[in-house]
Amino acid sequence: MHEVDVIVIGAGAAGVAAARRLGTEVSVLVLEARNRVGGRAWTLAHAGAPVDLGCGWLHSADENEWVGVAADLGFAIDRTPPPWSRRAHQLNFSAADQEDFSDTWDRFDERVRDAAANEPDRPAADLLEPGGRWNALLDALSTYINGVELEKLSVHDFVRYRNSGVNWRVTKGYGALIEAHAAPLDVRLDSPATLVDHSGPRVRVTTPRGTLAARAAIVTVPPTLIAGGALRFTPALPAKEDAAAALPLGLADKVFLAVDRPDDLPAQTRLFGATDRTATGTYHLRPFGAPMIEGYFGGKLARELEQHDGFAAFAIDQIAALLGNDLRKRLHPIAASAWGRDPHALGSYSYARIGCTDLRAVLAAPIDDRLFFAGEACSTHDYSTAHGAYRTGIGAAEQVRQVLRARMPQAAP
Ligand SMILES: Cc1cc2nc3c(=O)[nH]c(=O)nc-3n(C[C@H](O)[C@H](O)[C@H](O)COP(=O)(O)OP(=O)(O)OC[C@H]3O[C@@H](n4cnc5c(N)ncnc54)[C@H](O)[C@@H]3O)c2cc1C
Repeated sequence: MHEVDVIVIGAGAAGVAAARRLGTEVSVLVLEARNRVGGRAWTLAHAGAPVDLGCGWLHSADENEWVGVAADLGFAIDRTPPPWSRRAHQLNFSAADQEDFSDTWDRFDERVRDAAANEPDRPAADLLEPGGRWNALLDALSTYINGVELEKLSVHDFVRYRNSGVNWRVTKGYGALIEAHAAPLDVRLDSPATLVDHSGPRVRVTTPRGTLAARAAIVTVPPTLIAGGALRFTPALPAKEDAAAALPLGLADKVFLAVDRPDDLPAQTRLFGATDRTATGTYHLRPFGAPMIEGYFGGKLARELEQHDGFAAFAIDQIAALLGNDLRKRLHPIAASAWGRDPHALGSYSYARIGCTDLRAVLAAPIDDRLFFAGEACSTHDYSTAHGAYRTGIGAAEQVRQVLRARMPQAAP
């Protein structure tokens, strides 16, 4: 049986960060279910610009470790402020209405923070003003930010998220950066782990291509796969499985459209498909100044559109209704995601069920100094992001290093 010091399960942001931090002092093998590394970070390219089907923004960029990785690897950073920090297209959303909406958001945010500080957990939807003019748009924003409507959003979990407010992009793509960081690693692709046996002194990991043994394993798969039993443990870990079930992945998807003769579209500008309903896309016109449009969909709408690959048609209809039917002929689908259907993700980013925010720490907790856990859902304050995933990966690698160091005298390789 092939034996190494540490097996890392999953080559997404967390697994790559963990394996890189473990370095070369110990032998590390990364098992990845897909035929590529990166997981929910995945970059294609169009007209010299990145098409990030998963993460695209370096959130909390002024303290985001991936910025340092980018500098080390010679990846340039685009510091243009994000479209949501500036005025959106005024075609269907006047400047005065945008001000009003922004004030409404601030008041809602204050009520959520107040409720989280003083009351038991509850859905954020409880804090909407009854009959409020902007309720549907607040709900739509929640689907983009959290992957779920406000009725499913835990106020306790929401307020724990840390946001420095600075957002940058990687000019070659966030997914490309994470892939480049993985380059030195020993990654076995097309190797889904199905069973982690931690009953003996060595951890044994079963894949369709054989069983591997290690002194420790770091599990970084999304919680959906632990909750759904795609990855099982023996002895079983019911507390871990319950925590994973309480931290499902919400849904957010993207579509990218190429635009012929794009000069009449304002660059780096946000256009809401509609402002009076939750089921709407939001469109980033000409990201990086490139001849394309990036559409974003969340929650129930994304789930419905995934059923019939409907993102491009929905986006083109919304955009043409606003910017003119002539534009329809100039829009051509490049790519769309379908993270909910993706068997190795089953969603986009984690949210906590009401009352379950503390289970992020349960999901992250190591078992018997042999099994360690990482991934964005394990992060209490930076969940749902690639830098949160990175941090949990580094944390797990440090825990493994400590344990292996303590065992070194009798078990040095
Ligand atoms: C549409 C979208 C937009 C986003 N936008 C942003 C953004 O702008 N900024 C940001 O910071 N974050 C964003 N995110 C979130 C970010 O992409 C994720 O939080 C992050 O990439 C998760 O990393 P991870 O390592 O925790 O999980 P993953 O990337 O899911 O990695 C887990 C890995 O495990 C593999 N795996 C699964 N099962 C098995 C198995 N049984 N055996 C072996 N391997 C397995 C998977 O294939 C995957 O490679 C976005 C996500 C989506 C989907």
